[in-house]
Amino acid sequence: MNNRDFERASDLEERWRRDAIADHARAMAAWEGKTVADSAECCAVCEDPIPQGRREAWPGIQTCVACQEDLDLAASRF
Ligand SMILES: [Zn+2]
Repeated sequence: MNNRDFERASDLEERWRRDAIADHARAMAAWEGKTVADSAECCAVCEDPIPQGRREAWPGIQTCVACQEDLDLAASRF
């Protein structure tokens, strides 16, 4: 790997990091001010009904427990 390749690689890495931070900030902002009315009645992924207790515990939640675990696992792998 010559110097130019190295610079290009770290540019790319820098851009990914910025994107990841921006995504995270957007996700956090999306949670601000959510109420139970913003919670989905059915899971956005599998369309199973989301229990009322879960909707109250996680205002704005869009997924059931099983799908959320899948998403968390996928996110932690990334
Ligand atoms: Zn689901």
